[in-house]
Amino acid sequence: MTPAKTVCRQLRNLQRWMPLLTDITSTLLAPRGAISASGAHVVRDLADIITPALDAPEEGPDGVRTYQGFYDWAKDWALSADLPPDGDPVYQLITRADVLHGTWDDWEAFTEDLERLHERIARLTGNAPRTIGPCIVAGCTENVTQQQTRSGASGPLECARGHSWTTIGCYRKDAARAITKPGISLTAAEIRDIYPDLSRERLKKWAQRGKITHNTQGYDLAEINALMQKVC
Ligand SMILES: [Zn+2]
Repeated sequence: MTPAKTVCRQLRNLQRWMPLLTDITSTLLAPRGAISASGAHVVRDLADIITPALDAPEEGPDGVRTYQGFYDWAKDWALSADLPPDGDPVYQLITRADVLHGTWDDWEAFTEDLERLHERIARLTGNAPRTIGPCIVAGCTENVTQQQTRSGASGPLECARGHSWTTIGCYRKDAARAITKPGISLTAAEIRDIYPDLSRERLKKWAQRGKITHNTQGYDLAEINALMQKVC
């Protein structure tokens, strides 16, 4: 089940991105050289006339093409969740997400709809998240993604089930700690970066006692992971 915080993030993203979509639509539909040389008469902007008719509510999230369409889509869901009919439906869904998550029968259907809309608008507005790699939480089969913006990657790394990491460094360290396959050798400094509490002395002792493999490339990561699991 999609966590409430993921839903809030997706709704906030859509609030930010929908105006960009309108920009794209306007750019596509804007007539070239709309202002007449004489300025005698105002040429109507084709985008202003056509845009309101672009939405196709019957197509669900695939038919949302303008900010108004997004607003109407959110209003339908807010009504079906018995939220008060006045006020901004997007804001209402964000502020009540925590409660709705546990009580609303249609939560699953809503989050699937939202996920689809979010994915589509992200792609159209150049905000599609990039896939970082598999989720490394035991038993989770989702991918970990990070939001992309025009100024680069930003925000937390997270999977669809809500497991998250604040930076790519944190994700990599957790991924390294999850390695169980022998054969990856890291230097003492690299090991200490992954396990700051593991002293050099202890590492040496383990190698001397034959508990971990130590060669010219360094120490075996999987063997250290197994030992650290016992220690913790
Ligand atoms: Zn996960």
